[in-house]
Amino acid sequence: MTSKNSIITKEEAARLIGNLGAEFALLPNADYIHPQYDIVPLAPKITVPAGPLVAVVMDMDGTTTTTEELCIHSLESMVRKISGRLTAGEWAGLDHALDYPNIIGNSTTKHVEFLITKYATMIDPAHLRRSYLYSALWTIILGQDEQRVAEVKNNLANLGCLDMLSDTQLDELTVSKQFTPAASDAITDSFLGKYGSGFRASSVTAMVRVGIDIYYQIYHAMLMEIQAGKGEALARQFLGSAGKRLIEPMPGIGIALALMKGWLGTAAAGAFDDLAADLGQKTGTRYDEGVLRAARNRVADLGVYFEQHPLKISVVTSSIRYEANIIMSEVCHVIQQQINHWNVPEEKKHFLRQQFSSYTNIYDGFVTANDSSEIRLKPHRDLYSIALHVLGIPKDHFNRVAGFEDSESGTIAIRAAGIGLCIAVPFEKSKGHNFDAASFILPGGVPEALIVHNLFMPV
Ligand SMILES: [Mg+2]
Repeated sequence: MTSKNSIITKEEAARLIGNLGAEFALLPNADYIHPQYDIVPLAPKITVPAGPLVAVVMDMDGTTTTTEELCIHSLESMVRKISGRLTAGEWAGLDHALDYPNIIGNSTTKHVEFLITKYATMIDPAHLRRSYLYSALWTIILGQDEQRVAEVKNNLANLGCLDMLSDTQLDELTVSKQFTPAASDAITDSFLGKYGSGFRASSVTAMVRVGIDIYYQIYHAMLMEIQAGKGEALARQFLGSAGKRLIEPMPGIGIALALMKGWLGTAAAGAFDDLAADLGQKTGTRYDEGVLRAARNRVADLGVYFEQHPLKISVVTSSIRYEANIIMSEVCHVIQQQINHWNVPEEKKHFLRQQFSSYTNIYDGFVTANDSSEIRLKPHRDLYSIALHVLGIPKDHFNRVAGFEDSESGTIAIRAAGIGLCIAVPFEKSKGHNFDAASFILPGGVPEALIVHNLFMPV
């Protein structure tokens, strides 16, 4: 840096930006933000860490867990509600090729903004108003996340329904929680009669606020059902197959986490057989016998190495903390059950079940949307920068960190935070993303990184 003045010329700015890197990402901003876009330098891409890994940072939805499906379902339901096209006959639903790349891995605001803009002509003002009032009432009466409640109240005020917040019926409902499926329609109609005429949402920004509140309400209602142990009925409804859960760890994630934390030790080779079987069964990935044998031996060595040198691990998610807390608790619960079937000694199983009793035992960092601002979520670097800081990784060790993401914006966020070893782990719904920012694209997820790449550790 040569300039003494904070305000510099365009030429000086171009020169300084050029000094920051050889590759840049162009990040468009939301409609209400200045400037229209940001240009950010990316860490040089590397395929081999500069030394043994010290940390792994990884996304939650779609990378650690299967929950991306729930988010997509909630977004589609939001569009159905504000358009009044509730059945597949009235509207076929989101387009896999054209919509999914824009609604996975970014901030909720960006996902909703994309859908509101794209499906603008389908939006029906009467359906939008009624479904908004329903979602606002649900959130204020039944919602468990205080920040969400505060945002909905703020939005009601901005959308012309300020008086509704001092309604005594709303106060009573907030106490009695009597917003049951049987009663909610009549209550919504009553509030619609009282406050519907003041409701205004004509600008894109206002409609995005509406869409966000409806989306969260749908998503959080499902999370509450899952929390209440009704997840299986919901899973049957959405996934159609018995035995499948709405929230599951991605295949092999439990074993990979246990290994990286150094909890497997000499039991790593036994657990590896489960890892390989899990990948074969759930992802259809088949590895050559020779590859598997070599990998088994290397993973056995890694188990012993990580016992002495455990990796620091952080979840880095654009989901809010309320959601991440429920989701990762459920993921741990499922991994605890999986451990019963792992090929490791009984006393090791007991130890592992204890370790997986809480996600706080696993993660040295747990970074969510609440740690930053909605406008600085992925693809911006902030969440990953916060994670590196929380983990205490010095800058000269950023090249010994591996980052895993299932979406385009996630992979850009990793590189933008200064991490050169970025691994894209696309799942069914994100495989159409552009993964130019990644050094590797591994559809087999973190387990594939272990089996095929020895988790990028020197052999
Ligand atoms: Mg994701």
